Amino acid sequence: MSESGVREVIIIGGGPAGYTAALYAARANLEPLVIEGFQWGGQLMITSDVENYPGYADGVLGPEMMKDFRRQAERFGGEFISDDVTRVDFSTLPLRVYVGDDEYRAESVIVATGANARQLGLESERTYQGRGVSYCAVCDAAFFREKRVVVVGGGDSAMEEANFLTKFASKVTIVHRRDDFRASQIMIDRARANDKVEWITNAVVDEVLGETVVTSVRIRDVNTDEVTELPADGLFVAIGHDPSSTLFVDWLELDDEGYLVTQPGSTATNISGVFAAGDVVDHTYRQAVTAAGMGCMAALDAERYLAAREGHLETALTAPRE
Ligand code: NAP
Repeated sequence: MSESGVREVIIIGGGPAGYTAALYAARANLEPLVIEGFQWGGQLMITSDVENYPGYADGVLGPEMMKDFRRQAERFGGEFISDDVTRVDFSTLPLRVYVGDDEYRAESVIVATGANARQLGLESERTYQGRGVSYCAVCDAAFFREKRVVVVGGGDSAMEEANFLTKFASKVTIVHRRDDFRASQIMIDRARANDKVEWITNAVVDEVLGETVVTSVRIRDVNTDEVTELPADGLFVAIGHDPSSTLFVDWLELDDEGYLVTQPGSTATNISGVFAAGDVVDHTYRQAVTAAGMGCMAALDAERYLAAREGHLETALTAPRE
């Protein structure tokens, strides 16, 4: 940090992207400040076993993995504030980031605020998160070998997750609140052609039932209000994601779905010195490993940006005066 209190880099967000950016920035002596959020750790905090993160050959619990990420960034001097950013001001340099009334200033900012899987909003859904309720088939399908699972949603994610789940599960029931699907025809056709997939339309899951783990879901017909109980070992909620980008709407370019836009092949945003990484940018892959990779890219991009600025400064200072 300079004498004027301006840091080289502030990282907003405490998930795989933010902590990896912090690790790289710290090892580059940029002394990053990570404003990691009150509920740090990101989406992995509501996951149980993670078996697809390279390096953890025996698998790891999501929250344990995030502690490891954080510890590794801390080891090289990353500094953390476990609170939420409330406002940013990117109108001038230094860039400004606020936590309530506290102002933090930096030459560069890495935004890694992630995204949240939309939830049904049921109390029982929260109770069974990581115990049968999942928001990511790629992550958790393998735990449902020869089991019965329910997928909620009518978009491409629901179709894709249902198809993927049939590689493991004995039966996959898609529950959708309408009888018209938002998913593309090819994805619907693929699911329809799959013998293991069953369909319940015009219906919602309005309760998750179980003991220590999920054993069934309660289905309510939206037209008749008739309620039935469907035995199930797992519930995959695939009703979309919301990127955590509202803090930045006045400053950064967002796409139609609210994801931050970065320049192709880079993590640079439309504002010099502001970089973005992880699920707040990426609606395609949404994996911890891809988010971590982008966090690394953002730290390298920030480092190069800062070095280039210093270069300019040096040039300016050493340039002969007219
Ligand atoms: P999405 O297209 O927004 O679909 C969300 C689905 O969930 C909709 O069918 C919606 O129902 C339903 N839904 C929303 N809130 C609900 C609630 N509270 N209770 C019950 N159902 C609810 O989201 P997505 O499927 O995640 O796709 C997001 C984007 O990624 C899309 O552009 C999609 O094409 C793309 N994507 C592409 C692929 C691929 O090409 N391989 C795979 C995955 C995703 P309604 O239809 O009634 O609103």
